[in-house]
Amino acid sequence: GEQVGARAAVIRKIHHVGIVVESLSRSYTFYRDTLGLPLIKEADVKDQGVKAALLSAGESEIELLEPLASETGVAKFLAKRGEGLHHLCFEADDVAAALDGLSARGVPLIDRCPRPGLAGMVAFLHPRACAGVLVELATPTEPVRDSVAPVKLKRLVIGARDAKGTAATFRELFALSEETANDGPRVMLRAGPSALLMVPAEEVGGTEGLVAISFLAQDFPALIRRLEGARVSMLRGAGEATVEPVSSHGV
Ligand code: ZN
Repeated sequence: GEQVGARAAVIRKIHHVGIVVESLSRSYTFYRDTLGLPLIKEADVKDQGVKAALLSAGESEIELLEPLASETGVAKFLAKRGEGLHHLCFEADDVAAALDGLSARGVPLIDRCPRPGLAGMVAFLHPRACAGVLVELATPTEPVRDSVAPVKLKRLVIGARDAKGTAATFRELFALSEETANDGPRVMLRAGPSALLMVPAEEVGGTEGLVAISFLAQDFPALIRRLEGARVSMLRGAGEATVEPVSSHGV
């Protein structure tokens, strides 16, 4: 309804997708050197206990996170689940106002107030708020430049026991619009220049939560040559390739 819409967090796009890795420097071999994502910045984020890097993927970014201390959330995630997709971050015009609106609706939050992060002023919702997906909001101090990255974030795939219900939750919390409705069990939500694709967990090996990232390659044959040159494990289709998690740090 109108009132719910008015209180939804106003999202511009997916700002970044966070990936936990054992070692930033080792993960650069795939993400920077083979996939070709330009490194924008790298810094220690002390209050999160991580060394973090942002790499450009068109109008969005990829955030790589390496734990610096064993008691942090990222270290626990790495110990329990291994390397892989950790969170998604939406860009909000005003993260403080977005938190107020979500809080007023009783949405469970990890951060009640924004704090400084690598991407600007950031805050995390509790995973319970978004069907188990850890969602961050960020108001960047500097805008994400649409860079010359050779691959651009196209969509983020989320597995859910109830794909339609999970899509409805994201739609209501973040005022995302649904792409051309269909009768199938999958739902695509537009988030600025990219999208979220909700798929039933049984279609993705039972995985609930973040499953995969789709990138659009500017020069597909050149990308394939780089992937092959780096001996990346992948499944080839017509005009697409799926990199296996063993070659992309669990993603
Ligand atoms: Zn993040």
